[in-house]
Amino acid sequence: LSFASCKLPRKLLENIEVAGYEMPTPVQMQAIPAALARQSLLVSAETGSGKTGSFLIPIVSQCAKFNEEHFQSQQQPLAMVLTPTRELCIQVEDQAKVLGKGLPFKTALVVGGDAMAGQLHRIQKGVSLIVGTPGRLIDLLTKHEIELDTISILVLDEVDCMLQRGFREQVIVFDMPNSIKEYVHQVGRASRMGEEGTSIVFVNEEDKKLF
Ligand code: AMP
Repeated sequence: LSFASCKLPRKLLENIEVAGYEMPTPVQMQAIPAALARQSLLVSAETGSGKTGSFLIPIVSQCAKFNEEHFQSQQQPLAMVLTPTRELCIQVEDQAKVLGKGLPFKTALVVGGDAMAGQLHRIQKGVSLIVGTPGRLIDLLTKHEIELDTISILVLDEVDCMLQRGFREQVIVFDMPNSIKEYVHQVGRASRMGEEGTSIVFVNEEDKKLF
């Protein structure tokens, strides 16, 4: 499999080349075609495996195609990536910007540590991808400051870390597999995940017992 055989927008292929990715990594070879086909995935991949690209390439592709086909004055959130930390969110958004350069694809961060007003303002002006931490996102959702009903691609990155960092409490559950399912359900309730959405869940450890 090559990037060129994946039916990606031409500009995205150029951006992939500029980023220096020659060949898809093994996780990308498996995840990209499946995500482009709108399959839900549970992926176990380590940092350094190219996992960020494996969800960002399908996200950029699908958002840019949607925005090109449904021209509207403002973009709407179509994809959301949640990660356990602010730093990881910033890295993911940076990579998304590189891959989405020159395409109709805007991004916003929803993380603690920055003023909420600025983040909200950016979302309200129209973005396709929201990258956030669960804490700030849940804050905004409970205050009804943002709506996620247009989101159809949800990625939970390092979900094992997210649960370890205390978001387990927001998911009243007894074991890992159910907690992850419940977590996806909880976040997904606000979005269209139940209908035609894709959820991609990443875990760090290859622990078959978890699933
Ligand atoms: P990640 O596992 O997502 O943290 O990615 C690790 C590093 O690999 C990042 O710096 C990416 O820019 C880079 N990378 C991702 N995909 C590829 C690829 N197909 N070829 C070369 N480098 C890549």
